[in-house]
Amino acid sequence: MFRMTPNIMRNLAVRKSTRRYPAEVREPFAHVRGELINDIERCIFCGTCEVKCPSQCIQVDKKACLWTYDPFACVYCGVCSDTCPAKSLYQKTQYRSPIGERLIITLQGQPRKKDKVKDPAREAGAPRDPGEEKADPGSTAPT
Ligand code: SF4
Ligand code: SF4
Repeated sequence: MFRMTPNIMRNLAVRKSTRRYPAEVREPFAHVRGELINDIERCIFCGTCEVKCPSQCIQVDKKACLWTYDPFACVYCGVCSDTCPAKSLYQKTQYRSPIGERLIITLQGQPRKKDKVKDPAREAGAPRDPGEEKADPGSTAPT
């Protein structure tokens, strides 16, 4: 006991090297891969994140425009945000706050508008302009 006393006194005097997390949160380092966020307005539901995720914690329903994510299965590797073609996925430098219940995040998006407005006359098979039929080398003139 007498041999330990100097150590005990020293430990009482110096600043603690641990924190009372989550009451006391450390300032994050630069480039920390923290909470994963999907800006669902930008998501194109391509499914790349689902395919690339090593822990299979993302599901993408392309038809229903649903993006589902299990943060408890996520290992925060950053592969999904690195490969997202729409740049809708990103990671904060803060970690998700601890909670006591299982959480599944489901985000509902909107179907993408078509880039080109379809021409109803073109859809019906009409030529684009009056001279188009003559310009087609594969067409044969009626006899
Ligand atoms: S990779 Fe990006 S754009 Fe594609 S489904 Fe995932 S979040 Fe959406
Ligand atoms: S950070 Fe890694 S483990 Fe988490 S969802 Fe993205 S690809 Fe999957």
